[in-house]
Amino acid sequence: MLNYKDIQNRIEALDVIQGVDLSIIGYSLLNKPIYAIHLGNYDGPQMIMEGGIHAREYLSTLFLIEEIKYLATKDIINGGIYVVPMVNPDGIELVLNGTTNLPCDILRRYLLDVNNNNPDFSQWKANANAVDLNVNFDASWGEGTQNVFCPSSGNFVGYYPESEREVNNLIRFTKEVNPSITISWHTKGEVIYYGFKSLSPEDLMRDYNIALSLSAVNGYQIIKTEGSVGGYSDYISLVYNVPAYTIEIGNGALPHPIGEEYLMEVFEQNKNVPIVALENVGGKFFDESISSVCKIIK
Ligand SMILES: [Zn+2]
Repeated sequence: MLNYKDIQNRIEALDVIQGVDLSIIGYSLLNKPIYAIHLGNYDGPQMIMEGGIHAREYLSTLFLIEEIKYLATKDIINGGIYVVPMVNPDGIELVLNGTTNLPCDILRRYLLDVNNNNPDFSQWKANANAVDLNVNFDASWGEGTQNVFCPSSGNFVGYYPESEREVNNLIRFTKEVNPSITISWHTKGEVIYYGFKSLSPEDLMRDYNIALSLSAVNGYQIIKTEGSVGGYSDYISLVYNVPAYTIEIGNGALPHPIGEEYLMEVFEQNKNVPIVALENVGGKFFDESISSVCKIIK
């Protein structure tokens, strides 16, 4: 059975690949490293991709690890890609290992209490504070239709915006990178969400047109987001006003969490999505097969 340590080892192993720069952008509440991987050039347009912000959606982390290996085989002529594959390591450890590795009993009892005394944390979305990181950003914080205001396995916005260490790490990192485009990877439903509420009609059209080119690669449905705020894509739209997408991998009919047995399927569907995304904001790849894919789309 896959456990947290396996995923951490896979991320650290990426560092030996030529062209891959691995760094730690900060630590989780329980002091686990949050990694960032860079590919390509440090000048030119930069894309940020993040995954594993919702604990039970760890398939997005596994996908990004495979994607980094794939992107490392491509010669990026202009621009670069940053990947933060596991924003919520404490939550992912809860999903995969339960409460076994928690540092103290009082925290174990607290989290069990939040989880209705169920030792099975496979449906957990939050971090080890029982805050849902993807509703904790200061972007119409607390105004989401599914928000809750007490600790919970999912959808708790926190007691105040940007209360969580993981969120603050991602915000600081994003400020340093100043991205031209971002993709947040989640499960499930095979959907590309775009169009966060702060955008002007012109920017909505810009983001829709890029979504069309992404959908031409993975075949996913494009949906304009409604009623969901406080997430990383909302934050990017509000603060940076650059294209920001939330892509839900994995068939919607599968139950959470979607396991590793679906990794290769979602990888094959999505492996060229980041390439097309970066090309849309001025990135260039030296690969004829990829440019021909992009030409068809454009
Ligand atoms: Zn999610």
